[in-house]
Amino acid sequence: MTPTPDRQEIDDLKASIDLVALFESYDVPVTKVDRSIKALCPFHTETTPSMGINRKKGVYQCCVCLDGQCRLG
Ligand SMILES: [Zn+2]
Repeated sequence: MTPTPDRQEIDDLKASIDLVALFESYDVPVTKVDRSIKALCPFHTETTPSMGINRKKGVYQCCVCLDGQCRLG
């Protein structure tokens, strides 16, 4: 039987991860444009950042390949 993750544990884990620091730790360039945070998508080759990062919600998504959504629930 597969254990069911506790919702609070998942939320706590997501809240503990700073996505900008995580992207930068993998040498993914991150730029701040006004109140938005953009990064070069690590899932496809590009020269203009398409990956949007929402620090408050703890999610990210590339608007080109639509990959990279946080899958922690
Ligand atoms: Zn992409």
